[in-house]
Amino acid sequence: MSKLLVVGTVAFDAIETPFGKTDKILGGAATYIGLSASHFGVDSGIVSVVGGDFPADYLHMLNDKNINTDGVEVVKEGKTFFWSGKYHNDMNTRDTLATELNVLEHFKPVVPDNYKNSDIVMLGNLHPLVQASVLDQMTVKPKLAVLDTMNFWMDIALDDLLDVIKRVDVITINDEEARQLSGEYSLVNAAKKIHEMGPKYVVIKKGEHGALLFNDGKMFYAPALPLAEVFDPTGAGDTFAGGFAGYLAKTEDLSFDNLKNAVIYGSNLASFCVEKFGTERMQELTADEVKERLDQFKELTQYSIK
Ligand code: AMP
Repeated sequence: MSKLLVVGTVAFDAIETPFGKTDKILGGAATYIGLSASHFGVDSGIVSVVGGDFPADYLHMLNDKNINTDGVEVVKEGKTFFWSGKYHNDMNTRDTLATELNVLEHFKPVVPDNYKNSDIVMLGNLHPLVQASVLDQMTVKPKLAVLDTMNFWMDIALDDLLDVIKRVDVITINDEEARQLSGEYSLVNAAKKIHEMGPKYVVIKKGEHGALLFNDGKMFYAPALPLAEVFDPTGAGDTFAGGFAGYLAKTEDLSFDNLKNAVIYGSNLASFCVEKFGTERMQELTADEVKERLDQFKELTQYSIK
C-alpha cells in the first residue's frame, strides 16, 4: 500500500453561513485532506505547524484515525493560523473576513524521515515556498505530486506559485481560481493554459456543480451530489483533494480511467463534509455511509441510450 504525505494548514476557523455561526473551531486544509484520505486505510502523515494555543486533543483525534502527526510542529509561544469566512446565500461564494498567518509566517516544514519516500504527495493549500520545500525534501521522486492552492497565494506569491506548479503532476483548483491563474474565462481554455504551466492533469472544482478532470485533450465531468441541506461548504475542496489522493494511494493505479474514479471518490467525500459545520461530519463519517453514497453517485450518472 502506498504512503501519502500531506502538507497544508492545520487551523482555527470561524465560519458564518446563512444557517449559523461558529467560534474558533478546528479547520485547515491538511486537517480536511487527512480526514478524507483516512477513509482509504493508507499510511498518511501530515506536515504542518500549530501554536501553543492548539488543543492536543485535536491532534489525538487525527492520530486515532491513523493519521501521523509527527510532522506537525508545535510552536509553544506562537498562535495557530486563523481563517474566518462568511458565505453568501447561494453557499457557493464566500468572503474571507480574516486570514491571520501567525505561526505560518516563519514556518520551515520538516518532513519526517519515514515519509521522505512517500509515493503520493498532496501539497495542500499553503505558501508555495512551503509546498516547494516539501518536494525538495523527498529522497525518492513521488509517483504523483498533487497541488491545491487558492487566490490568496496567487495574490501575494504568484511567482513562487508558478515555480511549484511546474513541478507537480496534478493541480486541483476551483473555477474562479483557474480563471484568475490562467486569465481565461472558458474553463477548457483555462485548463489548457494551466497544462502548459506544468501539470499533466488539471482538476477544476466547481463547488455544488461538480468537478472537471482534464488530461491531454481528454475531459471528464463528475457532478456533485445534489443535497437537500448544505450547512457549511468550508473544506469541501480540501476534502475532495484528500479523497482524490487517498483513493490513488490505495489503488496505486495512475491511469486516466482511475483518476476518473478518484474524482468520483473526491466528490463523494466532499458531499459529506458540507452537511455539518467544520470537520464535524468528517470526524464521524463511517465506511458504510461512504459506500452507500457511492451507489447514489452511480445512480445519478449512469444511463443507457439505446
Ligand atoms: P476550502 O473551503 O476547501 O477552500 O478550505 C477551507 C480551509 O482552508 C479552512 O479550513 C481554512 O483554515 C483553510 N485556509 C483558508 N485560507 C487559507 C490560506 N490562505 N492558506 C491555507 N489554508 C487556508
